[in-house]
Amino acid sequence: MIPLKPIADLPTHEVVNMPPLIGDQDLWAGDVALREAVAREGAGPAAGRLAEFGRLMGSDAVFEKAEQANRHAPELRAFDRHGRRINQVAYHPAYHDLMEIAVAGGAPNHAWIHGGPGAHAANMAVVYLFSQAESGVLCPMAMTYSVMPVLRNNPGGPNGVADEWIPRLLSAEYDSRDIPAAEKSGALVGMFMTEKQGGSDVRANSTTAEPAGAQTGEGAAYRLSGHKFFCSAPMCDAFLTLAYTKGGLSCFLMPRWTPDGERNNLFIQRLKDKLGNRSNASSEMELQDSWAVMVGPEGRGVRTIMDMVTGNRLYCAANSAALMRQALVQALHHTGHRTAFQKKLIHQPLMRNVLADLALEAEAALALALRVARSCDEAGNGAEAAALFRIGTALAKYWNCKRAPVHTAEALECLGGPGYIEESMMPRLYREAPLNSIWEGAGNVICLDVLRALHRQPAAVPALMAELETARGADGRLDAALDGLKAELADRDNLEFRARRLTERMALLWQAALLVQHAPGPVADAFCASRLGDRWTGSFGTLPPETDFDSILDRALPNGERAA
Ligand SMILES: Cc1cc2nc3c(=O)[nH]c(=O)nc-3n(C[C@H](O)[C@H](O)[C@H](O)COP(=O)(O)OP(=O)(O)OC[C@H]3O[C@@H](n4cnc5c(N)ncnc54)[C@H](O)[C@@H]3O)c2cc1C
Repeated sequence: MIPLKPIADLPTHEVVNMPPLIGDQDLWAGDVALREAVAREGAGPAAGRLAEFGRLMGSDAVFEKAEQANRHAPELRAFDRHGRRINQVAYHPAYHDLMEIAVAGGAPNHAWIHGGPGAHAANMAVVYLFSQAESGVLCPMAMTYSVMPVLRNNPGGPNGVADEWIPRLLSAEYDSRDIPAAEKSGALVGMFMTEKQGGSDVRANSTTAEPAGAQTGEGAAYRLSGHKFFCSAPMCDAFLTLAYTKGGLSCFLMPRWTPDGERNNLFIQRLKDKLGNRSNASSEMELQDSWAVMVGPEGRGVRTIMDMVTGNRLYCAANSAALMRQALVQALHHTGHRTAFQKKLIHQPLMRNVLADLALEAEAALALALRVARSCDEAGNGAEAAALFRIGTALAKYWNCKRAPVHTAEALECLGGPGYIEESMMPRLYREAPLNSIWEGAGNVICLDVLRALHRQPAAVPALMAELETARGADGRLDAALDGLKAELADRDNLEFRARRLTERMALLWQAALLVQHAPGPVADAFCASRLGDRWTGSFGTLPPETDFDSILDRALPNGERAA
């Protein structure tokens, strides 16, 4: 892009005390907490790729594409000009550019392509870098990443869905054409679970599936009829969905095109007019004898599709951390250049307190997301490792996603009035933030899932406590909080009423344990002093005066600047 050369000297006034445009950012080199977390969680071998991707994603040109893709929201093209049904969505070219960057960068498949230790941690670092510029594009990336375990665990017999679909999902090419997947250079997969009468409670679904031929069960073809109330990224090449057969609620893979080369009956009714996430189309869809193939055992649909939900939840946790990081960067930039009452805002004591507190939250969220991503890498190492991944994903999804909306709101306020204006990008970050907390299991549902893990997986609490105990002895406040958590977990009364409190404590103490062990002293100390003390209300800017603000802010600043 040609850099703008603005005229500061206007006829009526000179433009002063306004921050320069932030310009190109280096999302990798400028984020020391990210580089440390990547190395710590086993993703070091991907550092070179991440460095390159971080530079690309931070470029002004990519941020501009994100702005365009959100400003020019997708439009439904249900029919062609002659009235034939085509069920398409038209996107702004910037959306397709971003999709290409996301796929080439490995957002949907880095872990599956590269494999080995740290592969999922690296994949979540890709997500963290991408979503600082744009989140809507990541919806189909998340679902494609997450469908892989479902296909691997349920290959569907010889020539089954796994053999057919996995190679397409491992492609590094984005192919936007609406043609049969077999003819494309790469494919993406979505997920339709939610119906009007049942979102969280998917067993209330009413969509039905009838065998399309003599064969029934896993690998057999069916015809599905019903409706789906939330269908994001409907231009994906296939969708995992749930429908009732005689044997119960079952999981199906439903392609956009049937094996006969015909358009499948996926009748998009309308696109949702959403609070945020505007680059991503979310639709309502009717299924009328839609062709699909059963994935996994008949009647075990919820169990089958849950592997996909788990991956999506990890994505939500990483995405929320990214929203917080970019909101913080924008706040640091603005306050570093804006003077009020004779001082740069970043030098005003109360603003330093707010900014440092925002920095702690962003770093803690990133640390938790990448630690849980490593637990995904290690989930095959026995019952405890699997249990840690299961409960850890729910904890990180709940807490990171709960903190992002308040964090982005506070960061927005650091910019004053301009923060409320679309051009600043802060409204986009702010509007995106609550979504992660709603989809893939809203807050309460996640907390109930944590309770389920506590009940059904005897290894969950021991695995989590063993992880937290590794930090014992480093900070007295954390030690006391760990004792408190143990007592709370031992109390089995009124668990449902207490599920949020328990989930929050487990997540918060895990963040504290990570920072105490791995972050510089001032960061860990301020986190424990605020979050584990009696006075914490959850709002920002209440760190104690003895906090080492300089060190926390110097670490958070993106370009090796100094905040003092
Ligand atoms: C932009 C957007 C895109 C989406 N895209 C998709 C998609 O592509 N595919 C898809 O399948 N879905 C999608 N969804 C749907 C989303 O996953 C659901 O909205 C979500 O799972 C919640 O379901 P629901 O809306 O039916 O709410 P409900 O299930 O009615 O829940 C409402 C509230 O009640 C709470 N609650 C539920 N049960 C309990 C309980 N037992 N105890 C206490 N509280 C409870 C929930 O936490 C929530 O706060 C999308 C949603 C949005 C907003």
